[in-house]
Amino acid sequence: MATPQSYSHSSILFFCLLFTLLLSATEPQEEDSPITRFQRYLRINTAHPTPDYDSAVSFLKAQAHSLGLQAQTLYFAPNKPLLLLTWPGSDPSLPSILLNSHLDSVPAEPAKWLHPPFSAHRAHDGAIFGRGTQDDKSIAIQYLEAIRNLQARSFSPLRSLHISLVPDEEIGGFDGAAKFVDSPQFAALNVGFALDEGQASPRDEFRVFYADRIPWNLKIKAWGPPGHGSRMYDGSAMENLMQSVEVVSRFRESQFNVVKAGKAFNAEVVSVNPVYLKAGLVSQDGFAMNVQPSEAEAGFDLRLTPTTDPEEMRRRIAEEWAPAVRNMSYEIIEKGPLRDYMGRPLMTATNDSNPWWSVFKQAITSVGEKLSRPEILASTTDARYLRQKGIPVLGFSPMKNTPILLHDHNEHLKDAVFMKGIQVYESLISSLSTFTEASH
Ligand SMILES: [Zn+2]
Repeated sequence: MATPQSYSHSSILFFCLLFTLLLSATEPQEEDSPITRFQRYLRINTAHPTPDYDSAVSFLKAQAHSLGLQAQTLYFAPNKPLLLLTWPGSDPSLPSILLNSHLDSVPAEPAKWLHPPFSAHRAHDGAIFGRGTQDDKSIAIQYLEAIRNLQARSFSPLRSLHISLVPDEEIGGFDGAAKFVDSPQFAALNVGFALDEGQASPRDEFRVFYADRIPWNLKIKAWGPPGHGSRMYDGSAMENLMQSVEVVSRFRESQFNVVKAGKAFNAEVVSVNPVYLKAGLVSQDGFAMNVQPSEAEAGFDLRLTPTTDPEEMRRRIAEEWAPAVRNMSYEIIEKGPLRDYMGRPLMTATNDSNPWWSVFKQAITSVGEKLSRPEILASTTDARYLRQKGIPVLGFSPMKNTPILLHDHNEHLKDAVFMKGIQVYESLISSLSTFTEASH
């Protein structure tokens, strides 16, 4: 009996070739549909730390071209393209509508996925697996497909409609949306209202977000006299730091209790979570156990609500969390803007005072859909940079009856949910782009 090793190289090559030919003959050509276009975008690996922005931009540019949209690629940092698409309105003097989506995604751990994260595998139940299915490649394709359908119905917008496809959102947006909103190209758009990403809803209604929380990275450091591990004395660095951790924990509990009592959503309170502790004298087998260190440090992820008074928060940190009288210091690294250019909290009104809100809500209900109570997003998005310019922005991704899987293993979205989202954007784009009452 021949062992596999006994085949010659050329016969193995021949069989491989034959097999490939057979496969390609039996496999149907992939059709061109909204779902396959979504899958093609998902297969472009734009995950950090090495996002393939160029492939993503050329794919999206080709899609825009097929729709006759104007396209410009802008660079606010080397190798970080921002694609700006425009569907001109019949009255360009009116403030425009901007739909935003980020090109990048967070990395994935392929070993922990049922299907490879960049395969865009469509399971039997219609679930499409892929990094970015929820966050947020779905909305980019939905914007484009909605335009395709509106064009097929001969719809034309009154206000110009822009789509911005921006880099680096997942690493803070500093070289993407942050620089874009400060550019002359952005000013020229005269944006009156914008939509950005939201989050999936496990219930039978869509979620909508009117603000993001504001992240602060807080480092607290304590000093104290060093000493033998056997000695009890006052004011050691560890003792100082541990007292602070207790005070911070009590504050955390007071905020969390409001959530537990059902009086607020998680994102409507200030959250503070310890993320690292650093102290101790390193020795060969770990830490020196008989030395009390002279320095100790703790790091906290702090998230303010849009209405938190930053000065009040700073006072609390300086006086209660890291008091100088206990040989403590602190450092706050603000990760984004706190207030808009007029000094107002970065919030978009979700009541009658904001005419865009009414148009948005009406566009959702007119396609038979429901919205849950508007929320503050627990994390951050590029919407904060737009709000900083005083532009009303809602965070919205039309995914209902869908588990929240952003940044998670096995991120996926059902094909039917994706398709429904296109219909929702058709309604939104046609309502928003023909709305005439708002002066801005
Ligand atoms: Zn996102």
